[in-house]
Parts: sequence; C-alpha cells; structure tokens
Amino acid sequence: QLDLEGALIARDRVGIQDFVLLDAHNSETAFLDNLKKRFTEDLIYTYIGTLLISVNPYKELDIYTKKQMDLYMGVNFFELPPHIYALADNVYHTMLSEANNNFILISGESGAGKTEASKKILQYYAVSCPSSTLLDTVRDRMLMSNPVLEAFGNAKTMKNDNSSRFGKYMDIQFDCQGDAVGGHILSYLLEKSRVVHQNHGERNFHIFYQLVEGGEEDLLRHLGLEKDTKRYSYLGECSNVSSINDKNDWKTVKNALSVIDFDANDIEVRRATIFLLGIHVQVLHEALTFRKIEAKSEEVLSPFTVDHAIYARDALAKAIYGRAFTWLVNRINESLENKDSGRKTVIGLLDIYGFEVFSVNSFEQFCINYCNEKLQQLFIQLTLKAEQEEYEAEGIGWEPVQFFNNKIICDLVEEKHRGIISVLDEECMRPGDATDLTFLDKLEEKMGNHPHFVTYKLADKKTRKSLERGDFRLLHYAGEVTYCVVGFIDKNNDLLYKNIKDVSALGVATQFKNSLLRLTEILTAKEAWYVRCLKSNDNKQPGKFDEVLVRHQVKYLGLMEHLRVRRAGFAYRRRYEVFLKRYKALCPATWPHWKGVPSDGVEKLVQHLGYQPDEYKMGKTKIFIRYARTLFATEDAFEICK
Ligand code: ADP
Ligand code: MG
Repeated sequence: QLDLEGALIARDRVGIQDFVLLDAHNSETAFLDNLKKRFTEDLIYTYIGTLLISVNPYKELDIYTKKQMDLYMGVNFFELPPHIYALADNVYHTMLSEANNNFILISGESGAGKTEASKKILQYYAVSCPSSTLLDTVRDRMLMSNPVLEAFGNAKTMKNDNSSRFGKYMDIQFDCQGDAVGGHILSYLLEKSRVVHQNHGERNFHIFYQLVEGGEEDLLRHLGLEKDTKRYSYLGECSNVSSINDKNDWKTVKNALSVIDFDANDIEVRRATIFLLGIHVQVLHEALTFRKIEAKSEEVLSPFTVDHAIYARDALAKAIYGRAFTWLVNRINESLENKDSGRKTVIGLLDIYGFEVFSVNSFEQFCINYCNEKLQQLFIQLTLKAEQEEYEAEGIGWEPVQFFNNKIICDLVEEKHRGIISVLDEECMRPGDATDLTFLDKLEEKMGNHPHFVTYKLADKKTRKSLERGDFRLLHYAGEVTYCVVGFIDKNNDLLYKNIKDVSALGVATQFKNSLLRLTEILTAKEAWYVRCLKSNDNKQPGKFDEVLVRHQVKYLGLMEHLRVRRAGFAYRRRYEVFLKRYKALCPATWPHWKGVPSDGVEKLVQHLGYQPDEYKMGKTKIFIRYARTLFATEDAFEICK
C-alpha cells in the first residue's frame, strides 16, 4: 500500500512522460503544467507518442554519459524515461528491422537546442553502434565534422552564442549489420553577409576569433595576422563572449581537421587561401578601386567612389568565404564517403537555422524564416494531414482534428510568378532603376490584399501596429516579423560587382527555394521522426521556465493538435502482408503459409494473440494498432519464438 502511494506521489512530482496518457489532453494549461513540472525536476524530455519534445535547460545535465547510452541501447522505446537516446535507438532499430531509410527532423526557434540535439544523436550512433576498427575512422570523422563546420558556419547572435548560420542535412549510412560506414552532408544557404557586417552584440563566424586568439605564432606570421581582434574591422566590437573560449576551440578545430584527413599543408596553406588570394597586390588593388568599362573595343579604367570600393571589397570577402565553406563541406564529404557498393540504409539528421526575429530583420531572416515555414509545412503534411487522410482512405471512422495550415504563407513567399520571391527576381532582372523601394512598391501592388502580408499603408488596419516606410511585415506561423527591404535586391543578386549585365536568371532566394524543394523530396522518401525543441526563456537563464514563451511555441508548433491526432489515432500501422510475414509464426493457422486473403490471416493472427477490440482496427490495406505496448508485446513474443 505504502509503496503504491510512494509511486503515485513520485509520478505526480515528475509529471507524465507521454502526453498521450495525459487525462486532460485537450487542455493547453494541463499540457504546460506537465512540461513545467518535469522541467523543474530537470526532466527536459517528454513524448507525444514517438515525437520527442525537448525543453532547453541552459545548464549541463548529467544525462549524456556512456552509462546512459548503454542503458537505452536496444530497450523498447516506452520502457525507460523519455530521452534523445531512446529516440535515436528506436530509429536505429526500426531501420535495421525494416531495412528502410529514416530521417529525424529537429525543429524549434533559434536557441531552442536543435544543434545540441543533433550532436547528441550523432554521438549516440558513433558510440553505441557495433564497431570494427576499420570503421572507427568513419565515426571519428563524422564526430569531428561538427566542430569544424561549427567553427566556420556558426556565430554568436543575440539569440544564441553558438547560432547555426547555415542549414545542415547529414545522412549517416549504415551497412546491413548496422555499422556506421559513411556519411554525407548537404549544406544550405550560409549567411555570408556576416563576414563583412555584424549587428550590435553579435560576432563574425567563430573561426576568425579562434584563429586570431589561438593561432600559433608561426601560422599567424605566415598569414600576416596579428594577435589582436581589435585590429580587424570585420571582427566587430564584441570579440569576447563569456561562454566561448576561442583559444581552446582553436585547438579542438585543428585537431578535428587532422582527424578528417586535412593534412598540415591543408590546415596552413589552404586555410591561408581564405585570407591570401595568391594574386599580385597590384591586381587586387586595381580590381577593388577601378571599374573596367568597355568602350569601342577598348578597356577604360574608371575609379570607384569610396563607397563603391568598399562594396567591391566586401563582395569579394563574402564570395571568398562562401567558396571556402563550400570547399570545406566538399572535403568533409570526401573523407566520409563510403566507396563500397553494398546495400546501405541511412538515418538523416536535419538541423537547420531556427525561426528568428531581431530588432532589424533583413534578407537573411526572410530566407531563414521561409525555410522554417517549409519545415512546418512538411511536418503538417506528414503528421496532421497525411495521417488523417490515411484514416479516411483506409475507411477508419475518424473525427477530423482542425489545425492551422501554413501553406498559405509558403505560397505567399514561393508561388511561381506571384510569390514574394518571384517579384524579387523580376525586380532584380528589370533593366534600369530597380531599387529596394521599387521592389517594395511591387509587393504592395501584388500582395496588398493578402491576409499574411502587411505594408506601410495597411499596417494599422491589419495588425494595429505601424510600420516604417521601407518595411514590410509577414504574419508567419510562428509570429509576425517586420523585414527591412534595404539590401534585398543586392543580396538576391549576390554579385561580385554591381554589373547588371551579369545578373543570372536565378536569384539567391530562388536557388534556396529550389534546394528546399529537393530537400523535401529527399525527406518524404524516408520514414520521419521528430524532435521539437522548445526555448525555456529568452535570457539563456538556467532552469527558468517562461510560461508565456513556452505556451506560444506549443501553440504555433501545433503540439496540441498533434496530441489530439495521436490520442485519437493509432500509434502503429502495418500493411497486412508485412505484418503477416513478420508474425505468422506466432499462430498455427498462419504458419508456415496463410493461403487466404492477407487481411483474414491478420485477423486470425491477432485474435490468436488476444488483441482486444479497442486495441486495433482493420483498414483496407493495413492493420492499425492503437497502443505501442500492444505491438511491443507482439514483438517480444516474436523474439522468444525466434
Ligand atoms: P539552436 O541550434 O536551436 O539554435 P543550440 O542547440 O545551439 O540551439 O542551443 C543553444 C544553447 O542552449 C547551447 O549552446 C547550450 O548552451 C544550450 N543547450 C541546448 N540544448 C541543451 C541541452 N540539452 N543541455 C544543456 N544545454 C543545452
Ligand atoms: Mg543551431
């Protein structure tokens, strides 16, 4: 009796670990109470079925040890408290038993913990998958690719001291034994403008400070650098950040580079090309201060104004950095490549820059937030929409769950000929006097009536908040963001020099849109798993749970709707043939072959196994199983009988 009471009190204190089991499942307040209760006990993970919610604790927790990894290895998903390792392990075993490709979509706003989560997952695979000495190199390289890419692609922003300024999708390839044998990284739109300009309180990419603070005397001399960040106007005003140790990080990065197969020459000489172009000073000097004009088959040099020269210098710096980053990703991919042609399955990890709102938002935020709209759309497509459509198609009785579909915002941004990106491209291509402001006029003309678009003229009517003249506002799924149009045309063109003749047909935003389209295709061909990261507070404060902030995220991420679909729905579904093939040995009537229609065989099988009527439903082509535990019990029986 006492023990039972103790257990109940303990359960009450730590909350419920799977929201599907929450009694007041329609109440947002109960949802938040449960999250908060757990967060206060340092339990940052909670499930909605197989979806993992993670709340950023902003402090080191003792839950990522090797011991913890061992604990979670090969254990049924719901047997232990929720953990990122449990999810990683479940994905891994699903991949092995079904020989299919999977991906883990990690989402949440800037600073919510996406990158940390993706690192934890990668570490789990690197440490706990079966190993052979040969493959140890692959593992080490995979792990070491992180500090390198972070050094070159992350920076301190107002939201996050280690904010990802590029999108990353990484495939981890496994052979049929489950050994990690290779990997491949796709990178998305690096925020190059940061190389030449940082907003107040922000930094350039980490690597610059690491190099200047930590670089060896010889190396610095070789590169013509001084050990003083103040000497470099590109490095801004806030070089020292209390949470960052650039000197140590330099050592880590240098070591990582050598593990990934960069030799000493690469590290010294290639890195040097980031700074030293290897061209004659005079040539560079001329290129940065004069414009070449062709007049009657003659080349005339006309001097730049100071502003033009600065523009040219910055454009060159951005282009060089962008190319160096691409080169780096390519080199890492070469080192991770597995040339063996044997069958492989993959687990993809998607960690992309999160939704962000600063005091001034520019082209970069526009692209980043658009990307987050797309990911939310994918989530909706794969969970809320597809799930409900499947019940309908399979003829399973179903009460539809309403949800906000952000497709309308995606369309506003990306629709062919009509979306913001198309208008931007048209304006970039227009010969003559296109400027950021004429672009804004066009937007006003074309989207003025759109419910998610607000400009200066319409501001008060739609959102009751005024706007500056050069701004437009988008009502994103995650909140409103005001964008300043200054720089949109230039950044979309991304030219080395302002020369309208060279404008390619495809602007930066369109290229980004196309790469996101390809990414969506890659992802929809795989089985999806989700980690939803929540930001606990806006001040990076350990242990603080800002209820208003968390409630807002729970709302816009559609977690309540997801829970409703999950609760009313079925945790597992399998095609009759697949189900029968795997479990037929568990019932004399279906062993060794079932000769009738597969659905009849499955019905016989589950009745023999004692499934209760509320535990499953028979669709047109699949069996739907409501609770995970039912399937686990069947799986256990299968293991024993094997
Ligand atoms: P995002 O990638 O979503 O922008 P990060 O993963 O970089 O955010 O996390 C921001 C910061 O929050 C990290 O640098 C770390 O200080 C803290 N953090 C995130 N996740 C955790 C965690 N699981 N445990 C402890 N601290 C965390
Ligand atoms: Mg990140």
